[in-house]
Amino acid sequence: MPVGRSPLLRTASAHRSGLDAVVRFESLASNSFCTPKPIKKPMNFLQQQDPDIWTAIEAEATRQREGLEMIASENYTSPAIMQAAGSVLTNKYAEGYPGRRYYGGCEHVDVIETLAIERAKKLFGAEAANVQPHSGSQANTAVYLSCLEVGDSVLGLDLAQGGHLTHGMKLNISGRLYHFHSYGVDPKNHRLDFDQIAKLAREKKPKLIVAGASAYPREIPHDRFAEIANDVGAKLMVDMAHYAGLVASGQHNSPVPYADYVTTTTHKTLRGPRSGLVLCKEENLKLVNRNVFPGTQGGPLMHVIAGKAVCFAEAMTPEFKAYGKAVVENAKTLADTLLAAGLPLVSGGTDNHLMLVDVTALGLGGKKAEAVLDQCGITVNMNMIPFDERKPMDPSGIRIGTPALTTRGMGTEEMKRVGGWIHQGLSHPDDSALHQTIRSEICELCKSFPVPAERCN
Ligand SMILES: *Cc1c(COP(=O)(O)O)cnc(C)c1O
Repeated sequence: MPVGRSPLLRTASAHRSGLDAVVRFESLASNSFCTPKPIKKPMNFLQQQDPDIWTAIEAEATRQREGLEMIASENYTSPAIMQAAGSVLTNKYAEGYPGRRYYGGCEHVDVIETLAIERAKKLFGAEAANVQPHSGSQANTAVYLSCLEVGDSVLGLDLAQGGHLTHGMKLNISGRLYHFHSYGVDPKNHRLDFDQIAKLAREKKPKLIVAGASAYPREIPHDRFAEIANDVGAKLMVDMAHYAGLVASGQHNSPVPYADYVTTTTHKTLRGPRSGLVLCKEENLKLVNRNVFPGTQGGPLMHVIAGKAVCFAEAMTPEFKAYGKAVVENAKTLADTLLAAGLPLVSGGTDNHLMLVDVTALGLGGKKAEAVLDQCGITVNMNMIPFDERKPMDPSGIRIGTPALTTRGMGTEEMKRVGGWIHQGLSHPDDSALHQTIRSEICELCKSFPVPAERCN
């Protein structure tokens, strides 16, 4: 039986026919040294061995299926990516890099990591890539170690205005090792204030400028950051964690031609497994590699690297291009719907996958708004808005994103309904009967838009 074809199909068809204990035959690779013999296994090991964990995972699967996942940093991976991430590769130690490992038996994982690297480079047009960072934060830390000394001056976007904690928050390793200075957005239009950034760069003489954001609803002009970095002799790192999928699908401009280092997560708009990636110029690769391993990590997660390789291949397809376009269209439609209902948005709208709503206009705080929408079956997160006068644990805003709903196949018609529900729910924050009604309407809608996992669970 050819590797990687039949098992999933068998499982899916058995699932459809309603069998409880799905029988799976181990596929046998052509390099087997013993007589191929089908091994009969019940599929649900976890349910039998550890029902507590299994039950919680099932409940989470139901939550992901029956609700509207609108956390801007979340998405649904494909069944193929989940299969790679749940594979035997989790058993393998592979410290080092392809061809130069500290362990035996790495011939197959070398193939996988090499494919992941080649695909990452091709997808983003980058000279070099390191696919080993366990997360976006790890990727950023490895780049900092590659170009900074302790105490060096760095510029990054203010966490309270859309930045990320790895961009200099005082409790994060970035803020503890380096001297970060925060730039922000213009109070009038909530867009990056490049005059302020240029002025700060001249004053603080940073060795590195960090661009990229976690809660910024507009396209980031990477060329303007490059110009400023160039003027003051700083290196440029672009952290495209949130919008890598929009870059891959051609919706947003790529940072790769402008930045010395590009970092990203792979699990947000890029729709891969939970992980990180560094792209750089060939001349910087040696240092980046050394600072990922052994600088900040031990053995790579080969199962996740396999998932990343699959993700990069998916992101090169015409379907993914269409996906990126739909994510942005959906966000625009949702933003227009909320604006028309009288809800103010940070910067007055969006040109990416997310928007920030100022819920104080409805007499609510962000914490209450998040809880109300949870009751309605809509998952979002409370978020600071620029120049927020409230506290991080109960800020003025909520952040809403369209990547996950777009993966389910929802389009602009659905976004109008979703906008209506959000407005209705938030306008009646204490009407639990209404919230229940909304919840069941959402559950009905969700039936027509299956999540990818329904095809493999
Ligand atoms: C999400 C995010 C990260 C960190 O990703 P983790 O995988 O959670 O460590 C880094 N930078 C930005 C801008 C992000 O939005």
